[in-house]
Amino acid sequence: MNTTADAIAAIKTKLGRDLCIMGHHYQNDAVMAHCDISGDSLELARRVPRIDAARIVLCGVYFMGESAALLAREGQTVHLPEPDADCLMSAMIPIRLARRVLEQLALGGRDIVPLAYANTSLAVKALTGEYGGAVCTSANAETMLAWAFQQGKGVIFMPDKNLGHNIANRLGISENERHVLRIDGRGLIEPASQPLDRKLLLWPGACSIHARFRPEFVERARAGYPGCRIAAHPECRQEVIALCDAAGSTSFLIKEAARVAESDSGGTLVIGTEENLVRRLAKRHRGKCSIFPLSHAICPEMSKVTEEKLLAVLEGIVGRGGEPLEIPENFFEPARLSLTRMLEVCGK
Ligand code: SF4
Repeated sequence: MNTTADAIAAIKTKLGRDLCIMGHHYQNDAVMAHCDISGDSLELARRVPRIDAARIVLCGVYFMGESAALLAREGQTVHLPEPDADCLMSAMIPIRLARRVLEQLALGGRDIVPLAYANTSLAVKALTGEYGGAVCTSANAETMLAWAFQQGKGVIFMPDKNLGHNIANRLGISENERHVLRIDGRGLIEPASQPLDRKLLLWPGACSIHARFRPEFVERARAGYPGCRIAAHPECRQEVIALCDAAGSTSFLIKEAARVAESDSGGTLVIGTEENLVRRLAKRHRGKCSIFPLSHAICPEMSKVTEEKLLAVLEGIVGRGGEPLEIPENFFEPARLSLTRMLEVCGK
């Protein structure tokens, strides 16, 4: 008997409709087994306004909890099993530096709209809202980038340069219309020497999990699994995406696995994204198709959430009401604005 799982199940029964557990697809199977709602960051954000439960427990990294708390209704509280789980990419854009760079661009005369990937801190989302921009996820980055170009003369996409390049490729924005900003701890390095008048400016961040996939991994997969189909997440480098058969968000990759399982019985799909999800898809479609990870890739931050920590947060809710995630008042309105702009543009 798994006592941790049983104890979680008992609390879920006790709290009933007062509790909703949400989990990002990169969580491990033991945690996912307890989730009432699973999704990528867009799906999780979309679902929050429709949740009736007073207590929302979010199994994911910190920014996902912040987004849920922003979109939660009055009286609802959001709890994280591991508040120290933080997206490595979101840490690549400290608020002080982001503000400094936007100020430098404005001082240089640029009419520029910020587009912040969901994987950013609340403070960066608030800054984005303040500057008239919006948030996007990998599932809607193309739509949101097109929207951002309608708002101003140029766009700064923050902080994932790889996603920025991949979306630009899809929208037909050429390499010489883009520029990856050169930044140090004080702001833009020698602004006058950088082509800051380009249409698309990219913050020099990346997901260290997806960025570790290399073109030779794709070549190795093609040699190892002749005839396989290869799909990858757009946080991978553009050189990797160029060699794949398909690319898309986490929800796209899940649908792609289901499509291959249904239409290509006996086929092989190699997926370049976080491995917990790939292994789960392999299990789900076993017998219909073979699914393999492009390479070993576990997000250490997502892995900080465990079944034991989930139980501990639930016990805290039952005992003392738990410690809900607090949103600083000054960030609330501008950050919410940047998120709701995305939901409005993309349809709730
Ligand atoms: S996989 Fe990458 S983008 Fe996702 S939470 Fe981990 S570090 Fe952040």
